Amino acid sequence: MEILDGKKLSEQIKEEIKQAVSLRKENGLKTPHLAAVLVGNDGASLTYVGSKVKSCERVGFKSTLIRLEDSISEEALLSKIKELNQDDTLDGYIVQLPLPKHINEEKILLAVDPKKDVDGFHPANFGRMALEMESFIPATPFGIMEMLKRYDLDISGKHCVVIGRSHIVGRPISILMSQKGQPGNATVTLAHSRTKNLAALTQKADIIVSALGVPDFLKADMVKQGVIVIDVGITRVSDENHPRGYVIKGDVDFKAVAKKSSYITPVPGGVGPMTIAMLLQNTLLSCERSDG
Ligand code: NAD
Repeated sequence: MEILDGKKLSEQIKEEIKQAVSLRKENGLKTPHLAAVLVGNDGASLTYVGSKVKSCERVGFKSTLIRLEDSISEEALLSKIKELNQDDTLDGYIVQLPLPKHINEEKILLAVDPKKDVDGFHPANFGRMALEMESFIPATPFGIMEMLKRYDLDISGKHCVVIGRSHIVGRPISILMSQKGQPGNATVTLAHSRTKNLAALTQKADIIVSALGVPDFLKADMVKQGVIVIDVGITRVSDENHPRGYVIKGDVDFKAVAKKSSYITPVPGGVGPMTIAMLLQNTLLSCERSDG
């Protein structure tokens, strides 16, 4: 069994980005600039945005954090988005989800200029990705593909079961893994909450990507010997013994499943850090595309 070390790999990718940025600076080219919009004070969102901003600084990007009250109206947020779309100093920006209930998320995501949509959530980018055209690939599936590539894992012709059909992880990773290319060409089954007898599918899978958000969901008796397991799940589980009051859990019963796996991602330290690295990669890409 080998651990797919997302932490180490993401450090390597960030180092490469840092070098690309300093080369840009030496050559008098623009410094990539990422902005993050955070509405309200949700603890998890604050942590995510905080680490995104910190990572920007580490690789030499400019970063701007825009914090807005959770009472902001949809109209006011839309006008902020319009402002960001018109800001030529910005290469990309993200709107941290979830948004307060009174704001229509779909309306906000549709208002983002696809050229600055480094999260890859806009339908224009999603459609282009599905058609294998130049786009921004959502950071988490992009991170998984990059991990498979850098560990030189050949998924061609293999049976992959993706658990979860969200727009940001399950659905896009199912498309990417079945696309032509390397990594790619996998035969993909997309499972979800209405799937019947999931274990019968996962037991036959060469690769399992679990993205449902239920701690310890994937058990050892649900996988075959030699399986590759990618655990996307991140769930905060209360733990009074921990100074933070919670621990982070993946979807996979790691200890038991690891024994049967050829490769497996840990949580934390697997897909999570790759996600941030690929957001930076998308921002660099956007900046390079605007060089002309
Ligand atoms: P989501 O919460 O939007 O959807 C969950 C999906 O799981 C749904 O499609 C549902 O059909 C499926 N599902 C639920 N119960 C199921 C069951 N019993 N059997 C089969 N399928 C079932 O999903 P999401 O936003 O993709 O998030 C999934 C998990 O991944 C969460 O824990 C989230 O925190 C985590 N996540 C991690 C990263 C990262 O960077 N590592 C990024 C995004 C999401």
